[in-house]
Order: sequence, then structure tokens, then C-alpha cells
Amino acid sequence: MKRLALALSLLVAAGPGSGSAADPSNKHYPVDRAPLAQSQFVMLPLGTVKPRGWLRDQLIVQANGLTGHLDEFWPSLAKTAWKGTEGGEAWERGPYYLDGLVPLAYLLDDPRLIEKVKPWMEWILSSGQPDGWFGPAKNRDRWPLAVAMKALTQYHEATNDPRVIPLLRNYFAWLKKNPPDWPDKEWRGVRAMENAVSAFWLYNRTGDAAILDVTDSIRKTCFNWAKYFLNFPYTTDVMKQGIKYGHPSHVVNIAMATKYPGLCFLQCHEDQHKNAVYQGIKSLDEHHGQVGGRFAGDEHLSGKRPTQGTELCGVVEYMFSLENLVAMFGDPDFADRLEMLAYNANPGACTADYWAHQYDQQANQVLCTVAKRKWSTNGNSSNLYGLEPNFGCCTSNMHQGWPKFVSHLWMATHDQGLVAVAYGPSEVKAKVADGATVTITEETNYPFDGAIRFRVKTDRPVAFPLHLRIPRWAEGARLEAGGKTVPTTAGTFAVVERTWKSGDVVNLILPMKLRTETRYNNAVSILRGPLVFSLKIGERYQKIKSYHDTLPAADYEVQPTTPWNYALMLDRANPEKAIRVKTGKIGKVPYEHDRAPVVLKVKGKAIPGWGLADNSAGETPVSPVVSDQPATDLELIPYGSTRLRITEFPVIAVAGSK
Ligand SMILES: [Zn+2]
Repeated sequence: MKRLALALSLLVAAGPGSGSAADPSNKHYPVDRAPLAQSQFVMLPLGTVKPRGWLRDQLIVQANGLTGHLDEFWPSLAKTAWKGTEGGEAWERGPYYLDGLVPLAYLLDDPRLIEKVKPWMEWILSSGQPDGWFGPAKNRDRWPLAVAMKALTQYHEATNDPRVIPLLRNYFAWLKKNPPDWPDKEWRGVRAMENAVSAFWLYNRTGDAAILDVTDSIRKTCFNWAKYFLNFPYTTDVMKQGIKYGHPSHVVNIAMATKYPGLCFLQCHEDQHKNAVYQGIKSLDEHHGQVGGRFAGDEHLSGKRPTQGTELCGVVEYMFSLENLVAMFGDPDFADRLEMLAYNANPGACTADYWAHQYDQQANQVLCTVAKRKWSTNGNSSNLYGLEPNFGCCTSNMHQGWPKFVSHLWMATHDQGLVAVAYGPSEVKAKVADGATVTITEETNYPFDGAIRFRVKTDRPVAFPLHLRIPRWAEGARLEAGGKTVPTTAGTFAVVERTWKSGDVVNLILPMKLRTETRYNNAVSILRGPLVFSLKIGERYQKIKSYHDTLPAADYEVQPTTPWNYALMLDRANPEKAIRVKTGKIGKVPYEHDRAPVVLKVKGKAIPGWGLADNSAGETPVSPVVSDQPATDLELIPYGSTRLRITEFPVIAVAGSK
């Protein structure tokens, strides 16, 4: 019997769409083919998951904002060599933009955006040279092609355009023929493993072993990120002595690279690569971690002070890395962090209308002006909300954040079911069990509220497992399906196994107990579910530059109109005793400052000695602190709803608190 099962599994190991009782992999979507290790979850093609409710509103804001108009006036896109303009930008900016525009267009089924995508794709798909190279003739650097491939694979998933796969195969044939060229001192070298994302996508759809020869060669000849993460060089002690800045200390490289040892693991199966992922993220938290799951890098790793910045590219690339990591390893902790980044740092670096963004965001951000700040190397405009503050990489790369997050809310599982990896109002229509199509609608105001209702629609009764992530913070989560309670454990996936029929409902209540995190200088941050809360500060915008006569593309300085130097009056072990939670409706512009759907009311006292230093909030006073000022009512709102904020607070000394 055992021998027969083995023979069967060998027979079917080769690929997608195959499968039998002996084949343990998903039958309906392209899985990792041998010799790649099997990822725990299977990413669904673009368009399988659709946004609903407030997440759809957020994507519409993005479509009406910069993503939907940037190519109309920003010279790097309006005159791009990636659409054939002679002398136009021929490097990363076109591909970066497409990597976000493509998923946004197809998630919203927005005809205007789909029309925008077409000329880019038509030009790129006809740019293939006989030797396999593609893109603008002027560009001979491999890096932007790695980005373009990520846009092309998404485009293929949405459209099935038959020209995509041959173009990608020809390019991998070119890479195989041309010697390894991944120098440690160049972007294409330190980011070389980004090619593996598209390479594995392509290999899993074609079975062309030559593609794996390329990724094998890349991982053996490019910068060794596994070694780097296993012996993380930029510890707090090392940073104190001063470091030489370079590619290995660059925030975006590192954010992308958190997934590289994972990609290596899929091919080499060596546990040390998997360990490197975990060790790397742990070290980044320990030495450069900021509240909300990001790490500081302005432009280079810059420690734990809450006034150090994180570049927006570093946020959206970390999100994409986590989307890949949760699929590879099936670890719900990666999804906990992904949600935190998506719902806090991602909107916090942008104006609510998605027309302006920052290069660097700060947890304690009390003044956004053109001025010198204690960044590692960034310039004086880095925390402005604008069109291209400091440098235009984020201007073109930011667009992938929201749409790719929505796309990866749901994934397929190898037991022919589905998994809700991250939560947000959405709908997934996918194949399960023996091929039945099921639609699951997720009704929720998450992360502003912890109640989630899943409604199931099928054309016939069908048995399949539904896996639901129980976040590590959601102790005591209540899960109920068909009138029965299903047990849950925080930090795992719960499974509901039953024969489903149309009209079935699953209710999940994730308790949103207030909790605190201890930060730099013993400061406290307040969290509720995946949301981080910040002091609501009065914001006065001053336009300092306009970029268009009719479109609202502009640079803004933001000045505080209310005090910010407060310490909170609470016991950090029992924050709910001191904080009152007020919830309301989510507006059509979800992250608007004045319409925050959740407001926390808490008392604090001013700390008169805590003022500006180097144009940022001065060093956070070490807690516990004393103040002779009167107690004041304060409001905290979601980090993403603030453009000025205090997020790491000193705490007033009271008997019994620490
Ligand atoms: Zn950037």
C-alpha cells in the first residue's frame, strides 16, 4: 500500500492541476513543483480576492489619488521609456508604478485604470529582443527587469495574456546564457533574489528546469543575506560606534531581503535559511524596531528612537516580503505583522486622500517641515507630505501597498480548502474540494472592530476546510459555525471543517482588548487589535509647492496647532482601566484625521521640559515621569489617521505602576 502511494505521489508531483488522493498538494492553483519545497499556502491569482466595504473605499481613494493620476503629469512616468518615449525614464520608476497600478486596476475592475495599464503592457510585451532581453533599449541594468516581471506576472493572472510567459521564459534563458552579474555594490546584486519571486512563479507554471538553474546560480553568486541575518552586523552596540553606510544597511534592501533566505529555502531545503528569516526579523526588531512592526531606516538602519524615520518603500516592500513569507511558512505571526504594517505605517505615511506621501515617517512626528533632522543620510525634505520628498522612489513604489495586501488576504490550502491569512472586508471566489466554486464574503469593519462574519455561497453542498487565523493578541477569540463553537488558540489557525451550503455563516469575534508595548526609554505605546494609537494633534497644512494646475499634487509642511508633549496617566499592565474606547462609522475616506472610526480617551499631563530637538520631538523622557501640570483629557486615534503624532508616550509615575 505504502509503495503504491509513493508511486502515485511521484506520478503527480510534477504540477498544478494534477492531483489525486495521494497527492498532498492543492489541485486547483499552481503549487511549488519539485524539487522546490512546497509552500504551506498557495497564493491565489490576482482578482480571486476582491475588496469590499471600507477596503474598497480605500482602494477607490487610491484610484482617485496619486495612483490614478501620477502618470498624467509626473515626468518620470508621463515621459517613460517603458512606453517607448525616446529619452524617457528607463530604469525602475515605470515598473515600480505598474507593480501597484496593475493590481489596483483589476481589484477594482476599474475601466479607466485598466485602460491606463494597457499601453504600458503592450509596449513591454512587444519589447522582447531576439536574445531574450526586454524593456527600454537604453537600460542594460537587470534590476528594473526584476520589478517589471512582478507586474507582468500579476497582469498574466488577471488577463491570461499569452504573451507574458514566453517573454519571461526568454528573459530567463538570457539570464542563463549571460554570466552571473550580481555585484554586492549594485542594486541588481543585493536585490538579485527578487528575480526568484517571478522565477518560481514561472517554473511552477511551465516546469522549465532551466529557470531553476538561473535561481540556483543567483543565490550562489549574489549577496549572502542568510549569512547576514544569522550574524546580524548592525546591533545597537555596533551602531553606537558608527557604521559605514552601504547596501547592507539600506532599509529597502533589508525589507526586501527578509524574504530572500525563505526563497533560498524553497530551493535548497536547508533549515539555516529558514532560521535566517526568523533571526533576521528578530534582530531588526531588537536593534531597529519601531512600534507597528516596522524597523527604522532613514535611509540606513537608524535604531529605536521614535523620531528615526522609515522610508515608505521600506514599508511596502516589507509588506510584500511578509505576504510571501506567510505563504511559504504558514506562520500566523508573519500575518500579524503584515496587518500592522498595512493598517498603520502604510496609511500613516500618506495623506488620507492619497495625494501626498512622506519619504520618512516617524512614530513621534510633531513637525513636518523642510529642516535638518537626525536622519542617517536622508535630506531635509524627507518628512514632508508631498509628491517626491527627498527622492522619487517611493513616489513610484508606494502604489503596491494596499492592492497587494488585499490580494493576499486569502490563500488556498493543500487540503483543498481556503485560509483567511489576514482580515479585512473582502470577497473570495475560489475552487475548493473536488473543484466546486465557493464564494465567501467577509463582512467586517476590521481592524476598527473585531467582529467578522463570513457568508458562504456554493452551487452545491461541498465539504472543505476553512482555516482562520487567530492573531497572537486575540486570546479568547470566539468562533462559531452552524450553531457550533469551534475551539481557537491565539497565534494559530483555527479550522472549520464541514459540508458547506449556500447561506452558511461563520462568526468570528476577535477580542480587541487594549494592550501596551514598552518602547525606547521605557515609553508606552497603546494597541488595540492590529491598530497602533497616536495622540491626536491639531494639524495645520501649508502648501509649499504645487505640481499641477487642476490636480491636487503638492508638497505640504504640517505644523502642530495643539500641544503634543504629554505623558499618559495609566497602568501599563491594565490600560483598559484608564482608557475609554469610542467607536464610530468609517468614512468614505477611511483614514481622515477628523473622522477616525476609533477614538481612545485617556488622561495625561504635560511635560514642560519636553520640547523640540533637531526639529523633531526631543528625546522621550525616561518613564516613569513626574509632572506638576493638571490632568488633561487626551484623544488617541489610529496611527494611520494622523500626520502629526506621538505614539511612544512617557508614563506618569503613579503608585503601583512601572
Ligand atoms: Zn523609496
